[in-house]
Amino acid sequence: MNRRERLALLEERYRSCEHCKLSRTRTQVVFGEGNPEAELMFIGEGPGKQEDLTGRPFVGRSGELLTKIIEKGMGVERAAVYIANIVKCRPTVDLQFQKDRPPDAEEVAACSPVLLRQIEIIAPRVIMTLGGPATKFLLDTTTGITALRGKWAEFKSIPVMPTYHPSYVLRNGGDHSPLKKDVWHDIKLVMQKLGWPVPGKDERSP
Ligand code: SF4
Repeated sequence: MNRRERLALLEERYRSCEHCKLSRTRTQVVFGEGNPEAELMFIGEGPGKQEDLTGRPFVGRSGELLTKIIEKGMGVERAAVYIANIVKCRPTVDLQFQKDRPPDAEEVAACSPVLLRQIEIIAPRVIMTLGGPATKFLLDTTTGITALRGKWAEFKSIPVMPTYHPSYVLRNGGDHSPLKKDVWHDIKLVMQKLGWPVPGKDERSP
């Protein structure tokens, strides 16, 4: 069985998952998407409203920014990488389905085996974690994202580069956010590690 088939089997197995309380409010499970042979995997924390409605990861406003980072900044198609979250159903405050929140420990414990299996199947050369929850989970740390971003770490011998979550960048100035410079710095480190051509100074900055 090839990687695509193994991922499809895993997705099928969790399509009706009820292993945690998020199953009670979700519209659909958001498994993840992209190239099963991807060299680079992005990991966020969980689906938001648009993701829950469409069943696809990172398709809302923060998804637009991530797509811009990948396509305009890195110069590759979004479909060339793989994008997933720690939990596959939308976590909202008091399960009211209005305001999003990071997944709690119980939800992460219930759902993370899916992500770990995705990583095992895809076996990316580099992982980029987006934001605090994904970084803390993968690196098994309580240190905040500000201290960790821009520095190489490792998960099961795979190099991990933590950076800010696109929604955090949007909440802090969007296109004019000073955080964009940090994210671009981290992206360039990833491209160097992968041996992808890195553009000159701000030539392709998203
Ligand atoms: S978040 Fe994960 S563990 Fe919880 S119901 Fe959804 S798929 Fe199952």
